[in-house]
Amino acid sequence: MSDNVIDQLIDGLRCLPGVGPKSAQRMALHLLQRDRDSGKRLGQALVQAMERIRQCNKCRNFTENDLCDICSDSERDDTQLCIVESPADVIALEKSTGFKGRYFVLMGHLSPLDGIGPVELGLGILEENLDSGAVKELTIATNPTVEGSATANYISVIVPRFVSLHPREGVGTVASSGCAGATIQPLIIGSTQLTT
Ligand SMILES: [Zn+2]
Repeated sequence: MSDNVIDQLIDGLRCLPGVGPKSAQRMALHLLQRDRDSGKRLGQALVQAMERIRQCNKCRNFTENDLCDICSDSERDDTQLCIVESPADVIALEKSTGFKGRYFVLMGHLSPLDGIGPVELGLGILEENLDSGAVKELTIATNPTVEGSATANYISVIVPRFVSLHPREGVGTVASSGCAGATIQPLIIGSTQLTT
């Protein structure tokens, strides 16, 4: 890497999605020429966020604490759990639906070629959440892509085990659907009351 500070700034900006060399150069020169205060605030915010933001112990969403705001909110419905691919999905669902249950954030989808498997998606933590016995409606709201559907199918394999562990909890069929801008209720399909 260049030891020229401007080159380092341009190179650093290129880590952002969709930012190529020309855009990075334009951003860097704009901050230097016209808005150094914003540039300093941006740098401080980046350092703080990268050092302090971690994943929630329970749902894996981003947070500064052990538990995120949603997981630590006693008003939320413990019986409903919605599985999504990313923190952006949580924000979208919170804005566009009246869903008051809990979430589980996969932070991606299954992608064996990229080395992303069940461990990377935290499916062990998900199973622990389900084993607590509180969840009665499970929604898999992965994105409507090939990868998202494959991930939903894989996760649904976990559910029968969960049902057999908690036959009275009424967890049944799970549904896979895209969640960008979607309402929550179509995602919850066919909860089955088991009669054992
Ligand atoms: Zn959480």
